[in-house]
Amino acid sequence: MIRHLIIGNGPAGVVAAETLRRADAQAEITLLGDEAEPPYSRMAIPYLLSGKIGEAGTYLRKDADHFERLRIKLLHGRAAALDAGQQTVTLSDGSTLAWDRLLIASGAHPVRPPIPGIDLPQVLSCWTLADARRIAAAVAPGARVVQMGAGFIGCIILESLAARGPQLTVVEMGERMVPRMMDEVAGAMIRRWCEGKGVQVRTARRVVSIEPAGEALRVSLDDGEILEVDALINATGVKPNVDFLVGSGVAVDQGILVNDSMQTSVAGIYAAGDVAEAVEFATGRRVVNAIQPDAVEQARIAALNMAGQAAALPGTFVFNVLDTMGLISTSFGQWQEFPGCSSAHLLDEAGYRYLRLVFDGEQLVGANSIGHTENIGVLRGLIQGRVRLGDWKARLLENPLLLSEAYLAKGLAATH
Ligand SMILES: Cc1cc2nc3c(=O)[nH]c(=O)nc-3n(C[C@H](O)[C@H](O)[C@H](O)COP(=O)(O)OP(=O)(O)OC[C@H]3O[C@@H](n4cnc5c(N)ncnc54)[C@H](O)[C@@H]3O)c2cc1C
Repeated sequence: MIRHLIIGNGPAGVVAAETLRRADAQAEITLLGDEAEPPYSRMAIPYLLSGKIGEAGTYLRKDADHFERLRIKLLHGRAAALDAGQQTVTLSDGSTLAWDRLLIASGAHPVRPPIPGIDLPQVLSCWTLADARRIAAAVAPGARVVQMGAGFIGCIILESLAARGPQLTVVEMGERMVPRMMDEVAGAMIRRWCEGKGVQVRTARRVVSIEPAGEALRVSLDDGEILEVDALINATGVKPNVDFLVGSGVAVDQGILVNDSMQTSVAGIYAAGDVAEAVEFATGRRVVNAIQPDAVEQARIAALNMAGQAAALPGTFVFNVLDTMGLISTSFGQWQEFPGCSSAHLLDEAGYRYLRLVFDGEQLVGANSIGHTENIGVLRGLIQGRVRLGDWKARLLENPLLLSEAYLAKGLAATH
């Protein structure tokens, strides 16, 4: 009987365990997690904070006996070291687990920038259920709150923080909001939208120190501004959880390097989700694409291979759909312009609608959009499908709104 061990019980770990069970009725499957919760989805935390769901609503599987029925053993513990030769994992309590195939699905953790005062108790992250409980206690109506960082997660949590009624200021060190996903026009539009909803936004500003001021915090910015607040939410990015791999022989760059079977540099050891660095489908560059749909798909592919069924990830597709206080924006593929590309723009400032298409030769390779939600599926289909647009390229350059027509004309509606 083959023994599968999965480190990490987030969406990637859970989907891998279920896939393994479907593929092999006999295998021993152990799912190890270091948080004192049933497997849950971080994506649901904003809904928890805004009161739309309770904690149980964040659980990935709602039936209490789901894992037991599937004979998936849930184990609470923290992987501290990996011995690839002996095929064992040592936990922080000193115990060891043996495996025949190992999946590392340990996700990521929030980075803590080296700012004096970052470890003060009123500095909170928004990453775990435990964090959500702390935020719920600290962010009450009228509370003064600074959010540091306006990237993907920072923007996703804004609405749920604002729903709790604080005086909210966002400080982003980039020139605009969501600088790693949105261009100048889109970033400025998202900012204007948030300001219209009562959130104060500072861009191109850094928090340089955080000091205690009685129960409150004195937050100093690099331009000399001082904000006195009750809490600071740190949303400055995340890093893969790879600390326990030191000396294991598993190759790590930003994340764990995997091939298209999701196997690491060590045979029999796989990785998936926020911890994995896979190959981007169009450019061939390596990326950690820390979003849930990717985590789940990578986990499914990894598990099939662990069960001996060959499966390959065609490549990670980098795209993001972001809901910032109700404004929907997207970024797809190579949204930044590059030498030799051509691009089309359509802007309606007053209506909060924006579309920018980036072409490489005959292919649409990237896009940014705000509003235009009706085109999200079409954009994905055209970009991920690497569709040769032929004459349609010139027509789209002239009128980007012809996206759906181009999609239909290329016969894609039947295949997507
Ligand atoms: C507030 C918020 C909102 C989000 N919204 C979206 C969204 O709208 N769309 C989207 O696509 N993504 C969103 N995400 C990101 C998404 O949650 C992640 O991409 C997803 O959780 C990745 O799944 P994973 O299984 O790889 O990792 P995780 O969900 O992080 O699970 C990994 C698990 O492994 C455990 N672990 C780590 N190290 C060890 C160890 N050494 N031993 C044992 N266990 C360990 C961790 O504690 C964790 O429980 C959001 C994230 C947050 C925080």
